Amino acid sequence: MSLVVIGTVAFDAIETPFGKTDKIVGGAATFASLAASYSVKPVKIVSVVGDDFQQSDIAMLQQHGVDTEGLQIKQGEKSFFWAGKYANDLNSRDTLATELNVLATFDPVIPDAYQDCKYLMLGNLTPQIQRLVIQRLVNRPKLIVMDTMNFWMDTAMEDLLETIQMVDVLSINDEEARQLSGEYSLVKAARKILALGPKFLIIKKGEHGALLFHKKQVFFCPALPLEEVFDPTGAGDTFAGGFIGHIAATDDCSFENLKRAVIHGSAMASFCVEKFGTERLLNLTQEEIQEREKQFADLVRVEEVLA
Ligand code: AMP
Repeated sequence: MSLVVIGTVAFDAIETPFGKTDKIVGGAATFASLAASYSVKPVKIVSVVGDDFQQSDIAMLQQHGVDTEGLQIKQGEKSFFWAGKYANDLNSRDTLATELNVLATFDPVIPDAYQDCKYLMLGNLTPQIQRLVIQRLVNRPKLIVMDTMNFWMDTAMEDLLETIQMVDVLSINDEEARQLSGEYSLVKAARKILALGPKFLIIKKGEHGALLFHKKQVFFCPALPLEEVFDPTGAGDTFAGGFIGHIAATDDCSFENLKRAVIHGSAMASFCVEKFGTERLLNLTQEEIQEREKQFADLVRVEEVLA
């Protein structure tokens, strides 16, 4: 078993009703690999940063069992930068800046030691690069999970559709599912999106949980009602990282196990939003994670109510 994660490794500047950060470490691959590292090690990342990225930040990833051989460092260039501001309800956010910097010319190199990749997480990144990574792996992985966002729907739809066709699981939010399919009903949207290629579709609905679609079946996992949501940044990537981490650790791609992975991913995401950036993901214990998952089970124990 080997898990490879690609995506941005970035600097983020975040504004929520509770405060504001200067540039802090973020990026889709950062959140996803940290989340997956609680299920499986090593997590091998493929990404790029500039020379503004601190050695201590790379060391932080390595301390969590993230293999950074595939992380390129471009001298004289700047890392990908994203700035966002959340509305008071924390459900919607405006992107204030997306500076591609090193990402604009990124040519992903897959180290030889990554060629044993069985599970591939295509974290949010240029869809053309996501596709290149699939093509540069000698053997097709057993399962490819892809995350993306509206930014790529607006700027690179053709590339996006070509990449979506090549993956097993697509993970997007409800707004993105509507934009991609042109359907308001999420059931209709799911049907159209599954026809594009993926066997499974995850539609994330923020504080309202996530839906997993497969053929005509659908599974729902709520989000945990949390007393304090501090910063939703990275929740989607953390969800995806937790999701594929669980599948890689169990080496089971059945629908039943994917449901279990959705619960695990949701539990990981619920931690992520409790602090700014990656902070809450840095020091979790397995006991805390199991306790969270149990809270999900208690939340939806409907069989007993109906009995
Ligand atoms: P999420 O909140 O799960 O959508 O993820 C937020 C993370 O995605 C931040 O850490 C950003 O650095 C990163 N991000 C924002 N915009 C993009 C983009 N267009 N492509 C790739 N990553 C992005």
